[in-house]
Parts: sequence; structure tokens; C-alpha cells
Amino acid sequence: MVLTILLILLGCFLVFAIVFGALTVYVLKKYELPTLDALSFNQKVEKKSIGTCVILGGSAAGLFNAAALARHAEKVIVLERKHFVDGKSHVPQAYHLHGFIGKGLQMLNRLLPGIIDELLNKGGKFHSVDSVKLVFRTGPNPQLKDKKFLPFFMASRALIQTGVRQRVAAIPNIEFREGYTVKGLVFSDTNERVEGVTYTTEKDPEIKQTMRADLVVDCTGLMTHTPKWLAEAGYNVPKSEVDTHVKYCSYLFRAKPDMSTEIPYKLGVRYAYPQGRKRILIFSELEDRHWIITSSTYNNVELFKNVEELLGDIRPYYPELAKAIENGEMELVVDRKTHYTPGGVYNHFERVQIGGFLALGDALCHFNPTYGQGLTTALLATSGVDEVFLKKGYSDESLAEINQINYNRLKFAWLMSTQSDMRFDKTTASLQIKWEYVVRPMLARMLTRMFDKMPSSEKLYEDFIHLMHMDDGCFWSLVSPKSTMEMI
Ligand SMILES: Cc1cc2nc3c(=O)[nH]c(=O)nc-3n(C[C@H](O)[C@H](O)[C@H](O)COP(=O)(O)OP(=O)(O)OC[C@H]3O[C@@H](n4cnc5c(N)ncnc54)[C@H](O)[C@@H]3O)c2cc1C
Repeated sequence: MVLTILLILLGCFLVFAIVFGALTVYVLKKYELPTLDALSFNQKVEKKSIGTCVILGGSAAGLFNAAALARHAEKVIVLERKHFVDGKSHVPQAYHLHGFIGKGLQMLNRLLPGIIDELLNKGGKFHSVDSVKLVFRTGPNPQLKDKKFLPFFMASRALIQTGVRQRVAAIPNIEFREGYTVKGLVFSDTNERVEGVTYTTEKDPEIKQTMRADLVVDCTGLMTHTPKWLAEAGYNVPKSEVDTHVKYCSYLFRAKPDMSTEIPYKLGVRYAYPQGRKRILIFSELEDRHWIITSSTYNNVELFKNVEELLGDIRPYYPELAKAIENGEMELVVDRKTHYTPGGVYNHFERVQIGGFLALGDALCHFNPTYGQGLTTALLATSGVDEVFLKKGYSDESLAEINQINYNRLKFAWLMSTQSDMRFDKTTASLQIKWEYVVRPMLARMLTRMFDKMPSSEKLYEDFIHLMHMDDGCFWSLVSPKSTMEMI
């Protein structure tokens, strides 16, 4: 009798393990990111399938997609409401810390070969894992013996944007029109397709003009108006939202040439955690002896008011940096720039069939910026665009496929970052994907466990670094038996 019960229990356990394992493999496969070798950017396009493509917005996503779409379109026109002066002028977030995680930077290098060297030559910095000091609730990261990780690329947003813009501007079939503000979409008679845009120019701000295009691509960022314009034409784009109310304040310092204080770390993050600290400190050495220090808060918690208060947060774990600021070896170049964002939004364009239209970059989805993923997720979506047009050419079916592929590719980043946010008690969410409500509590436990164990577990810290970089195969390493055991 006892033996029978034991056998039944064992059988149940095995069935559960097999079903759970198969489900995990299915989900991980479905949302697996493309490996670098699988990217299509270097494959030859035999025949251009788009006539004119108009891109709205000439910042990061506008530039990445202009480069990719120039492969498939006879002509690409980028409409930007501001003027490109120094990489800062039209990017509101340009005064804040920007890092390029490994996968994103490598993807960019496939799209614009040689760009990494160009950005490094302009002064961008690679920081290896040795020079990174991360501080979690339970202490700082362990030192890793194995140095196989991609380095972190850090530079001002202006440097990144200028470098990319110079390369894209050199592509012959791309035209930039600056001082052009897009005011609406032009639809076909039956509203089935987007056929162009209306816009005004700086010269004639009162005159609304029309520009026709075979494909309209919205890259106007997180303040995009296209969901509203589409709603006016009868399209309802569902939206998942996670509001954690992130506040940012950044300070830019410059190290004096004769600085004698040795700073043993070049990049630091002191993390927030749900059980108390709702504040993140992030700093990095940038080009030209600049150091940027950003303090950001969750759930609307007040920002530090001045450098004195900021130093109080730096001192306990980064005393050398605090000392260099206190003794004047680092001078303040740009004082307290602030930024506010509610959190994450995913516009579910994969649920709506709209001919002649795509939304990419932050206009498609954006997250709490403290995770530093925005540029990389913009590139992930660009990779989907290129892959589908290369395989199938341009058609409305291709657009539907791009929206679906992008959803699968961005889902992982969306889940990880918004789930990290949802561990904070005052974060609110309205999710379109109902199964997320089931998966999230599990993910929350896993993340909290992982964060707390990292200071004492090299394996989990390694997994975390792979995840941060969205390295090829990063999910699989996380669910390996060794990592699971360490988490338990
Ligand atoms: C504070 C902060 C820090 C961040 N840190 C990082 C980081 O470390 N790493 C990272 O990868 N990402 C980071 N991000 C995210 C990253 O900046 C964004 O994901 C990225 O800028 C998105 O690019 P985009 O082109 O979609 O949008 P945006 O960069 O916002 O550009 C939108 C463009 O559209 C133009 N535009 C808007 N409306 C119109 C119109 N009607 N007509 C014509 N033009 C228009 C705007 O002028 C602008 O140039 C951060 C974001 C913030 C806010």
C-alpha cells in the first residue's frame, strides 16, 4: 500500500516536472532573442520592395531604422521636428546616463559595421567586469575569475547619437528634413491603410502640408501621438502599462588632469530594493574625463536636492569617488538635470492590422530607463524589420509578421524590467496579457532571490551580467540546474 502511494507520488512528481520543463523550454524558445550570427543586416537585399518610406522622428530609433530601411526602400525620408546640432538638442534624455548593453552595441555594429571602433575613437569607454562595482541589498558583487563577459560601453548620449547620425547621414538614399513637425496620419478612403502624414515646417508653421509614402514608420518616442491618431480612424491599439513613477536627476563632473585620487571602479550601480531602498545610484566614467552620476527613485520618492545629499549616498560604497568630488579634483560641469517618466508602456500593435504603418523604438515600447535597455530594444525591433523584409519583401502581411516578431523579441526585456518595478509596493499595472498575472509572482520571487544571493554566488552574478547584456543564450544559463540550485 505504502509502496503504491509512493509510486503514485513519484509518478505525479515526474509528470509535473516534465510538463513544467516542457513549458519552460517552449516559453524560452518562443521568446529567445536572435543570436548575433542570426541577424540579417549583412545579407544582401536582392530587390528593393518599398518605394518611399517616411520615418517620423530622427533620434535613436529613427536613425537605426533609417539605416535598415534604406536597404529595402528606394528612398527614406526622416522628418524631425528639431534640429540636429550636437546630439543633445532633440533628445530630452541626453543629459542623463546612457549605457549601451553588450547585445545592443554588437547589433549596432552589424547594422553599421565599424561603429564600435568609431565610437571608441570619439572617446566612448569600454568598462570590463573588473572595473564595475554593483551593490545589492546584501552587499557588493563578487569578483569574477572568468573574464569572458562583454564589456559595458559607456559614453554620453550626445556622443552615441552624433556617431550614429554621421554614419546614417552618409547613406545616399536617406534624406533628413529637420524642423518638420508631424501633425497627423493620412489614411486611404476606407481607412484601411496609412498613406502618408501631414506636417508643418518651421518656415510655415501655420500651413499643414501632406507627404505621401508607401510606408510610414513612427519613431517619435514615448510621447508618440500615433495611437491617438489611429484611434480617430477607428483603430484601437491596446496598451500594457506599468507605472512606477521614476524620477531622475543627473550631475556631470569633469576630473581635473592632475587628479591624484585613484578610483578603482569606472562604473557603479547601487540598487534599489522593494523592502526599503527606493533609490538607485548609477555612475560612470565617460569620454573626455567626464563622470556622470545619476540618482533615480521609484514610486515618486523625492530626489536628492543637491550634491551634498548625493554624496551621502555615494560615500558608503564608493568613498574614493566621494573624496575626489569633495576635495575638488572633480568639478561640477552640469548641475542637477531632472527627468520624470511614469514607467513602462507596450503598445500592442501586434493585435491590430494597419496597412502601411509601423511603430518602433520607444513609440512601440519603453521601460523604466534605469535598466538601460532602450537603445537595445529599439535595435531588436529593427532586426525584426530587416529580417522580414529580406525574407518576404514589403506587404501588409509582412508588417503583421514584423509586429508579431517584435512582440516576441521584446517580451523578455519587457517582463524582466516591468517585473522588477512591480516588486515595489506603489507600482501599478494594467496588463493586456493575462498570463502575465500568473507568471509574474514567480518571476518576482526569482528576481528577489537572485538579487539577494548575488553577492555570495559567482554563478548567479555571472547569469545576471549575461542577462544585463542580453547575451546570446542568457535565458538558458538562468534556468540551468546549477543556477536553480543556487537560487533555492
Ligand atoms: C533618463 C533616461 C535615461 C536612459 N538611459 C538609457 C540607457 O542607459 N541605455 C539605453 O539603452 N537607453 C536608455 N534610455 C532609453 C533611450 O533613451 C530610449 O529608448 C531611446 O532614446 C528611444 O529612442 P526613440 O528614437 O524611440 O525616441 P526618442 O529618443 O525619444 O526620440 C524621439 C524623436 O522624435 C522626435 N519627434 C517627436 N514628435 C515628433 C513629431 N510630431 N514630428 C517630428 N519629430 C518628432 C523628437 O524630437 C525626437 O527626436 C534612457 C531614457 C531616459 C529617459
